Amino acid sequence: QAKKRGRNQYIMCTPSLRALLEENLRLTNYLYTALENDEFLLHYQPQVDIRSDKITGFEALLRWNHPELGFIPPGKFIPLAEQTALIRHIGIWVLKTACAQTKAWQDKGLPPVKIAVNLSLAQLENPNLVQQVSEVLTETQLDSSYLELEITENMAMKETDYVVNVLKDFKKLGITITIDDFGTDFSSLNFLKQLPIDKMKIAMPFVHGMLNNPTDEAIINMIIMLSQGLNLDLIAEGVETHEQLLFLAARDCHQVQGYYFFKPLPVLEAEKVLLEMKN
Ligand code: C2E
Ligand code: MG
Ligand code: MG
Ligand code: MG
Repeated sequence: QAKKRGRNQYIMCTPSLRALLEENLRLTNYLYTALENDEFLLHYQPQVDIRSDKITGFEALLRWNHPELGFIPPGKFIPLAEQTALIRHIGIWVLKTACAQTKAWQDKGLPPVKIAVNLSLAQLENPNLVQQVSEVLTETQLDSSYLELEITENMAMKETDYVVNVLKDFKKLGITITIDDFGTDFSSLNFLKQLPIDKMKIAMPFVHGMLNNPTDEAIINMIIMLSQGLNLDLIAEGVETHEQLLFLAARDCHQVQGYYFFKPLPVLEAEKVLLEMKN
């Protein structure tokens, strides 16, 4: 309920808005100590190649388990962390933990898989990012060919030239770059052409809509053709039903991630599915 938004930009604070602001402030305060108190953990969601039914990789998904509040979804706390410098520290923790875990699985003799890690805009804007990622790889001894970094179109569009250079540096290191939630902030094709990316991830809303909504179907068809034309890898996210799987397979989209196969798994369960794959 904006009252008078003139010179004195003032907004009426309704009770529900007030409650939300207070909750966010409280969460942000808790966030400051979450790292040192070990309240973060990663879940790992398998990515499956439906031609072989094998797991080719995991996406690392951050979880915050607060002693009083319980699990707080990333959609709620990551935007808050992004408003502070915290996201950079949390981001590095995610990278280290994900790379160390992936290497530990390899050392146990489990089938080697890739690990996809989400980057936030604040991380991408940090001029030390490439150096930090390179240090994490050295420290954890994970081969760079197993690391995949996910950024959204939106992030890449912010400062094109700068981002193109950062991505080129990642490629030089041998890291895979994926555009996450592809199609949601649809960027110009000319822009896309400049981006040194390896893979596109079809955004979940299109996957959920494609069987009933002709527009979503058209968008999916276009994304698949685009990925083939640009010679990029492709994965669909949010696949929940057999019908969705068949639809994608019929269009030569063979890599999927979604509840139909696996939810994001705690570390021991992720290890178990790798072990089962080995046998
Ligand atoms: P995202 O990177 O697009 O991750 C996919 C989200 O879809 C995850 O939600 C996952 O749990 C959910 N998902 C996967 N399969 C299905 C499905 O079949 N059905 C449905 N309904 N959902 C599915 P989650 O874990 O809540 O993460 C939400 C977002 O938070 C992520 O979206 C990502 O943008 C962000 N995020 C998560 N972890 C990190 C992190 O370590 N760093 C940063 N910067 N962002 C992260
Ligand atoms: Mg992602
Ligand atoms: Mg995302
Ligand atoms: Mg996504």
